Amino acid sequence: MSDTLLPPTRKRFDEDAYLDRCGATVLAVLPEGIVLDETVCYARSGGQAGDTGTLTLTDGSTIALAETVYAADRSAILHVPAPGQTLPALATGNRVTVAIDWARRHRLMRLHTCLHLLGSLIPVPVTGCNINPDTARIDFDLPESTLDKADLGERLNALIAANTPVRIDRITPEQLAAEPDLVRTIGAAPPVGTSQIRIIEIPGIDRQPCGGTHVAAVGEIGPVVIGKIEKKSRTNRRVVVNFAEAAGGALAADAGPARAAA
Ligand SMILES: [Zn+2]
Repeated sequence: MSDTLLPPTRKRFDEDAYLDRCGATVLAVLPEGIVLDETVCYARSGGQAGDTGTLTLTDGSTIALAETVYAADRSAILHVPAPGQTLPALATGNRVTVAIDWARRHRLMRLHTCLHLLGSLIPVPVTGCNINPDTARIDFDLPESTLDKADLGERLNALIAANTPVRIDRITPEQLAAEPDLVRTIGAAPPVGTSQIRIIEIPGIDRQPCGGTHVAAVGEIGPVVIGKIEKKSRTNRRVVVNFAEAAGGALAADAGPARAAA
């Protein structure tokens, strides 16, 4: 079924990360998941977890979504129903409202954007990353342990407090080829066949191709703590970052859905 030609899903999260729901038309109901013509659900990729949420049918019945992933062709998005629920009848052509678990997604946006800031403080190649709602980690090709946890945490929180706005730019593959230093992650080739590459810029701090979801200004991340710094292999140093509020920090971040003033 994965090799069935599926039409690409319009990624509303790519245009506006703050959109928490949209109307959509069902294009296919597959064993692997439900394909819609458009969606607000971010599909797991680039280390960022896929969204959870709900599909609401016109009769008011709902389907809980446990995961969002890309189909094998990487252009259609599969909405994966949570197990253990009786699914209402759903057919191609039905209209639905697709909504994300906004509180969870906002935490993902905050931690994802935080990894951009953290990467700017450690200017060596990145070998991987993972972003979950409660914790994130980024791996660096850094053979020598030169990182001081307290100092890193202090500089990271200073960057967050400066509340620099996050910009989204689009460039051509040719422009990217002319600026190879933009690609921080080893082995992260930009998608083939795309006419536009999405560039995330935090002016004066970081600029790189990225398809993830980000906050509008970095102050929205709120205070964070460096969890631990681990040596995973000779050339792989892993830095874990957590929200200060979860770590018992005194300052609770504002997790409201409103855009931070830029
Ligand atoms: Zn990003």
